[in-house]
Amino acid sequence: MSKNKSSESVKVVVRCRPLNRKEESNGPAGGIVQMDLRLGQVILRNPRAPASDPQKTFTFDAVYDASSKQRDLYDESVRPLIDSVLAGFNGTIFAYGQTGTGKTYTMQGAWMDPEKRGVIPNAFDHIFTHISRSQSDKQYLVRASYLEIYLEEVRDLLDPKHGSARALELRESPESGVYVRDLTSCVCKSIKEIEEVMNMGNQARAVGATDMNEHSSRSHALFLITVECSQPGPDGRKHIRVGRLNLVDLAGSERQAKTGVQGERLKEAAKINLSLSALGNVISALADGRSSHVPYRDSKLTRLLQDSLGGNAKTVMVATLGPSSLHYDETLTTLRYANRAKNIQNQPRVNEDPKDALLREFQMEIARLRAQLNHRKWRSKQKKEQVDGEAWERDEDEESEGEEEEEEVVEKDAEEYVKLEEQRLEMEKEAIKGDQFMLAEEKQRLLGEKERMMGDLRKEQEATAQLTAKYKAMESKLLVGGKNIIDHTNEQQKMLEMKRQEIAEQSRNEREIQQQMLVQDDETLELRETFTSLQQEVEAKTKKLKKLYAKLQCIKAEIKDVNDEHVRSRQELEQTQNELTRELKFKYLIIENFIPPEEKNKIMNRLTFDPEEDQWKFQPLVPAERKSSQMKKRPTSAVGYKRPISQYARVAIAMGAHSRYRAENIMFLELDMTPPNTATLEAEPNQSHSLDNSPNKDRGVRKSRSWCQTPKSLTSSSSNVSLAACHTATPMAAQ
Ligand code: ADP
Ligand code: MG
Repeated sequence: MSKNKSSESVKVVVRCRPLNRKEESNGPAGGIVQMDLRLGQVILRNPRAPASDPQKTFTFDAVYDASSKQRDLYDESVRPLIDSVLAGFNGTIFAYGQTGTGKTYTMQGAWMDPEKRGVIPNAFDHIFTHISRSQSDKQYLVRASYLEIYLEEVRDLLDPKHGSARALELRESPESGVYVRDLTSCVCKSIKEIEEVMNMGNQARAVGATDMNEHSSRSHALFLITVECSQPGPDGRKHIRVGRLNLVDLAGSERQAKTGVQGERLKEAAKINLSLSALGNVISALADGRSSHVPYRDSKLTRLLQDSLGGNAKTVMVATLGPSSLHYDETLTTLRYANRAKNIQNQPRVNEDPKDALLREFQMEIARLRAQLNHRKWRSKQKKEQVDGEAWERDEDEESEGEEEEEEVVEKDAEEYVKLEEQRLEMEKEAIKGDQFMLAEEKQRLLGEKERMMGDLRKEQEATAQLTAKYKAMESKLLVGGKNIIDHTNEQQKMLEMKRQEIAEQSRNEREIQQQMLVQDDETLELRETFTSLQQEVEAKTKKLKKLYAKLQCIKAEIKDVNDEHVRSRQELEQTQNELTRELKFKYLIIENFIPPEEKNKIMNRLTFDPEEDQWKFQPLVPAERKSSQMKKRPTSAVGYKRPISQYARVAIAMGAHSRYRAENIMFLELDMTPPNTATLEAEPNQSHSLDNSPNKDRGVRKSRSWCQTPKSLTSSSSNVSLAACHTATPMAAQ
C-alpha cells in the first residue's frame, strides 16, 4: 500500500471508554458504539435515525472497547513504535478526542495502579528495561522535556518560572526538524528520575488548573523523550542513533455551543478549536495527497507535529470515543478525523550520526576529563617514584594489557604520594622547629615555605577531587547496556514479556489478514459468478443491485451528514467570529477615545508582524547593533547636570535665583501684579455704564505683564487714583 519503499501510513487505533455514572443515570440506556475487535471495526448507531437506517462502519488498525486493558493497547499498538524509537526513528503518539473521553487516561492513566498505567509510564519502563538488557558495548543518553501549548503559546513545564516565563519560540533546522528554542531538557538515568520529571511538569500544569478553571483540558501537552545510542559500527568507529519520541495529550475538541463559554474562556476555546481545525486541515491536505500546500504554519501544534504528520516519523494516533448517545455528533467527527488520518503517509528514517547529538559531546567531555585526571595522577606517581628514588618509566605494552588495572595502581600511587609528601613536609617542619642553631628569622622563612608547599599540595588534591567528581557525574549520565538498572529483569519475566509480544503480534497480523480478506471478498465473488440460467443471472444481478443501492443510500446519508456538519461548524465559526469582532470593537473604542492619537501612532509605527511567530512585535527603540554605544552616552544637554534641563533653569542658576529650582524643569511664574491700566473716562455718561461691554481698546484695556518684563514701579497712589476714577465713573454711569 505504501507509496514508496520507505513510506508507511499513520497507524490509527480507536478506543471507547465505558459509560460513566452520569451518563448511565441521565442518558438513554445503551451506548451507540459497537466494536468488532477481530476486524478492527467501529460501528456507530445514530440515536436520532430510525433503526432501519444503515449504521456507519469504520475500519482501523485496531480498536479497543470499554473492557480493554491499558497493557493490551500498549503491547499491540505502542510497543512496536517505542522499539523503533530505540532503533533511532522518530516516533509520535497522540491522543485525539472529545473532552472526557479518556485521552489523559490513555496517555498517563493511574500511575500507582500497574493495571491502569497509561502509555507514558509504560514507555518509561520499556525504554529503561531495553537499555538494561542491551549489549554492553552500547551507551545511551536519555533526555526528557515537557511543554504545553496554551493560548497558542509554547510554555516550558519544567521551567521553575513556568507561570511567569516568556513563551518559547519555534525554530526549524534541517537536522532535527522543528524544535523549541531554549526548552529545558533533563538527562534521566532511571525510571524514577524520568517519572520525577513527568510529575514536576504535571504539577506545573496542575497549578494552572486551580488558577484557571479546567486548565489541563485547555492546553495541549507534549512530553518529549530523546534516546541517543552509541554503538561501535563495522568500521570500528562509534555511531550514534537518535530517536525522538513525542507523547502528545491534546486538549479536548469541544463545541463552543455546548460549553456556552464567554470572554477569556471563549478565547481559549477559540484557540483550541483553531489549532484542532488546523490539525484537521493538515490531516485532510495530507490524506488527500493532491494538495501541494500543507498548512503546517497555521498553528503551533501543527508546526510541532510537522514531522509526525507526513514527515520523518512513525506515528500512532489514538482516537478516543465516549459511548453516550448524547455526543453522537462529536463521536462521528472524531471517527471521521481518524479515518482520514489513516491515509497519511510518513517517511520515517533512522537518524544516524546527527551533528547535534548530545551523546557525542558527553563522550568527548568525558574523554577530556579523563585525560586531565590521568595526567594529574601520572604526575603524582612520577613524583612519588622520584621520591622513592626509582627511575620512572612507562611501559607501553603493559598499558595496553590492563589499562584499568594500571589506572588503579596509578590512583593508589598518587594517593600514597600525597600522604608521603604530607608526612615529609610535617617532619621537615618539626626538624626546622627543633633546630636550635638556626636563626629565628631563617626558621620563620623556612617554615613559611613549607606551609606554602603544604597549601599547594592541598590545593592540588582538592582540584583532583573536584575533577574526579565532575568526571564521575558526567560518566554516570551515560547508561551502559548490560547493566541492571532495574532489578526485576529475571528470566521468567523476560519470557513472559516475549510471549505477550508474540501474542500481540499475532493478533495484529490476524486482524490485518481479516481486513484484507474482507476487501477481496466482493471482488472474488464477482469473478466466480457463472450463471447457468437467465433466471439465476437475474436473481444474482438483483441481489447485487440491492447491495449497491444500499451502498448508494449509505453514501448519500454520508454526504448529507458531512454537509450538515459543515454548516454546523461554519455557524460555530461565525459565532466565534462575531464574539471576537465584538471584543475587537470594544478594544477599538477604548483606543480611539482614551489613547492620544500621537501615542497611538508612535506605537503603531513601532509594530511589525512576525509571520514566523504569528505575533505582532515591537521594534526596539534603538537599532540593536548601535544599542550599547548609544545607550551609554548621555544626552548633550545634560552635561554637568543630573538630567536634561531647560534653558530657564540654567538662567535661573546663573542668576542665583531660588536654589530650590536649580536643575529643575519647573517654570516659576510670579503672580501677575499689573494693576489695571485705566485712565479716567471722560466719555459721555451712557458710553461707560459698564466696563465689560466697553469697546474702548486703547484707553480702558487691561494689559497683563509677562514675568520677564521689567516691573513698572507700582505706587499705591496710582491704584488709588484709578480706583477713585472708577468710583467717580460709577455714579456718573448710574445717572
Ligand atoms: P480527557 O483527557 O479526554 O478529557 P480523561 O482521560 O480525563 O479525559 O477521562 C475522563 C474520565 O474517564 C476519567 O475519570 C477517566 O478515569 C475515565 N476513563 C477514561 N477512559 C477510561 C477507560 N478506558 N476505562 C476506564 N475509565 C476511563
Ligand atoms: Mg485530558
